[in-house]
Amino acid sequence: MGLKLLCVVAHPDDECFAFGGAIALATRRGVETHVICFTDGQAASNRGDAASSEELGAMRRQEFAKSCKVLGVGQYELLDYQDAQLEFAQFSQAACRIVQRIRDFQPNVVITFGMDGALNTHPDHTMVSAFTTAAFHWAASSKRFPELGPIHHCDRLFVLSASFYLPDRPAPMPIPWTHKLDVRAVMEQRFEAFRQHQSQAPLLHKTKDLFEEQGQFEYYTLIAAREPQPAEQATDLFAGLT
Ligand SMILES: [Zn+2]
Repeated sequence: MGLKLLCVVAHPDDECFAFGGAIALATRRGVETHVICFTDGQAASNRGDAASSEELGAMRRQEFAKSCKVLGVGQYELLDYQDAQLEFAQFSQAACRIVQRIRDFQPNVVITFGMDGALNTHPDHTMVSAFTTAAFHWAASSKRFPELGPIHHCDRLFVLSASFYLPDRPAPMPIPWTHKLDVRAVMEQRFEAFRQHQSQAPLLHKTKDLFEEQGQFEYYTLIAAREPQPAEQATDLFAGLT
C-alpha cells in the first residue's frame, strides 16, 4: 500500500496558502492525499460579487474543490461548521469527525495548523490544531469512539510553523520548526491553486510579492510520532516511511 497524507484546515484557501507546497510535493510523488476543511469561509473579508454569506460560502466551496484538483488532491471534503465560530464548536464532536476520517482513510502523515493560529493568528486555525491533535491520538486509542471502527496509528503529526510575519498583522509565536521543505519545484502549481480562489483575488494580489520572496520554503514541526525519537532537523515529511 502506498503512503497517505491527511491535511486538516479551517477555510477554503488554507489548503494552498498554508499547506500548498507540502500537498503538491506529496501528490507529485504519488502520495494519496485527503484534505478536510471545517468551514466554507463565508465570514471572509473578501467577498467577490457574492450577495449573501450563503452565496459566498457556496462560491468558496467550488473554489476549494478546484484548488484541491490543481494540487492533485484525491479526496477533499468541506464540513458544515460555521466560519469564525470554531472556538465555540463542541470539542469532542469536532475531534470525532477527524477520528472517523483517520480511521477510514488510515493516513501515515497528518498535517495541520499549530496552536499559534498561523500567520494571521486566526482562532479557527488554533481550534483546528486542537481538534486534529486530539484526533491523531484518539484515533489510535480503542477507548475513544469504539463505535467508529478499528483504531489506526498514524506515523507522524506535523503542525505548520513560520519563518516570517505578515507586516500588517499581529505576529504569531510559532513553534520552532523541525522540517524545512523546499517547495520551489511546485511554486507555479501553488499559485495556480491560489488563482482558483477568485473571491479571494485581492488577498492573492496583496500577498503575492511576500509569497514570492518568502514562500520558497514551508516550515513544519513534528509534534507526535509513532516511535519515540529525538527531535531532528529534516527536509522530508515522509523520510524513512514506506
Ligand atoms: Zn484560514
